[in-house]
Amino acid sequence: MKILSRLSCVSFCIGVFGMGGTGLPEASAQLPTGWKAHDWERERPQVVTPGTSNLPLAAPSDAVILFNGNNLDQWRSSDGGPAKWIIKDEVMESVPGSGYIFSAKSFGDVQLHVEWAAPAKVEGKSQGRGNSGVFLQGLFEVQVLDSFDNKTYADGQAASVYGQFPPLVNASRKPGEWQSFDILFRRPYYQDGKLAQKARFTVMHNGILVQDNVRPLGPTSWLQHKPYEASPEKLPLSFQDHGNPVRYRNVWLRELPPETIIQPEQPYDPVIVSLTKEQQAKIVGKYLRGGGGLWEITQQDGKLFFSVSGTPLELVAHSAEEFGLKYTAGKLTLKYDLSGTPTDLMFYMGGDVSKGTRAE
Ligand code: MG
Repeated sequence: MKILSRLSCVSFCIGVFGMGGTGLPEASAQLPTGWKAHDWERERPQVVTPGTSNLPLAAPSDAVILFNGNNLDQWRSSDGGPAKWIIKDEVMESVPGSGYIFSAKSFGDVQLHVEWAAPAKVEGKSQGRGNSGVFLQGLFEVQVLDSFDNKTYADGQAASVYGQFPPLVNASRKPGEWQSFDILFRRPYYQDGKLAQKARFTVMHNGILVQDNVRPLGPTSWLQHKPYEASPEKLPLSFQDHGNPVRYRNVWLRELPPETIIQPEQPYDPVIVSLTKEQQAKIVGKYLRGGGGLWEITQQDGKLFFSVSGTPLELVAHSAEEFGLKYTAGKLTLKYDLSGTPTDLMFYMGGDVSKGTRAE
């Protein structure tokens, strides 16, 4: 596997798949992206030179620090033992042949920051040059590769979701220079063992958007197309040993809450009443706003509207004295005189309350 991985797709594809088929016409078998994996002919992203580096990027207060230069306590080998990568000058380095490393803790949805550098001494080509990888949940690889002036297949270059989605642009820095990935990852969701929602990736490479909310077709893989298979909610992050001494530093993440919508405990308009046309007609009119300005209540198609800065907002009557705003969390109350005409108006909005009085 390792030897083959260093061959270009062209030679490999001819060698393995160029053996001829049955000769029968068959339907095309493109994946949902429209492409098969590792197509040498797939258009390569445009090169964009990133701006001046702002690295290292300090972790925010709620970050889980996975590597800060001191030790590999947060990392394990595939057998659960100590990680076999080395630390040099507060930087961890992949040791060829030592295997992938895995975070000791498991994670679900995360915002991940990783700084990495391909070897300054350029060796190898295509997938054999500065190859490593950041595997979210150990399943989905954001490719680490020296893609600075290094031709490889589009879906395998740096910041690709490997074998599936090329980056939008090639934002690589030179070999040896520190680069960053900022990855927003949403894990796949399963219900009763079946896929309910694919995983999702948004990735910034050196501060430049390279993956825009893409949905992997399944776990990433070399050559194979792997379908989604129910997996635990939380799994370790892993970094790939692909035989090149790629370096990492300043690795941290923020665990994200699931994307649930939290609703207010109390309904906004617990009671909605219909006012008669006569009641509405008495409310319609202008109101002098305390502190200056004019409010207006108007009527149209049997509905009342409250104009704030010229924008009519539909009112929802809770009673003749109290109204909500249809789409905004505001409240309006009226006080009436003995003849049933409003004299005072209170408008509650955004933590403020303003008072108005009926204009003559
Ligand atoms: Mg890789």
